[in-house]
Amino acid sequence: MSNFSIRTFAFILLVCTATGASAQHRRHHQPHVLTGDSLTSGKYTLIFTSNDPGFDSLTRRNMINVFFTVYPQEVERFNKNSLTRIVFFIDTAYEGVAATGGGVARYSPAYLKAHAQDVDVVTHEVMHVVQAYRSYEPGWLTEGIADYVRYVYGVNNKNGGWKLPDYKAGQSYQNAYRVTARFLLWVEKHKYNKIVDDMDKAMREGTYTPELWAKLTGKTVDELWNEYAQNPSLELSYK
Ligand SMILES: [Zn+2]
Repeated sequence: MSNFSIRTFAFILLVCTATGASAQHRRHHQPHVLTGDSLTSGKYTLIFTSNDPGFDSLTRRNMINVFFTVYPQEVERFNKNSLTRIVFFIDTAYEGVAATGGGVARYSPAYLKAHAQDVDVVTHEVMHVVQAYRSYEPGWLTEGIADYVRYVYGVNNKNGGWKLPDYKAGQSYQNAYRVTARFLLWVEKHKYNKIVDDMDKAMREGTYTPELWAKLTGKTVDELWNEYAQNPSLELSYK
């Protein structure tokens, strides 16, 4: 990861973000004048911009390395037509953790300052670029897949204090994020090993319906969840 070509420039960025939370992908547009670096490795270019002059250079470097490590793997597995040029924007005005839309991933410098090891937020966010779904509904599935990907491809989850939570009564597959990610992993291990690939493809092609679960696994998502709740172990057991 040491031989990027780097170019520094100023440009006007039209930020277009969609919030990641389920059922509320609000879009808004704001012009910003920024300076940034354009980093290229192979066929991928990352434009790294920030409006926070105090942003930690090591965190920046770690985020860049995570991008060039995981993004090509995500593209290769899920969507070979993904964008090859992505913008990262460290934005002091952003109050969440991160959000992605239109090829721009926006990150909170305050969050990254307090959680400098949590650089696999990048792994999650750039999966939203790969997803490029026709519709991001159901949001729980969109976010569950992004956290599944973070679990599988993340490079610093342990040091970042990030892990899948154990199953607990009261959870639902609609909880999104890590809860859904663990369920997807369980379905993958015990029922159908292409579940994430096929769900992701259907979402991108706009062909997802709730019936797809039964079509792929023989069981509805509620039936799968009930079975999961009874034996949520991710270990394969042979009887
Ligand atoms: Zn997300």
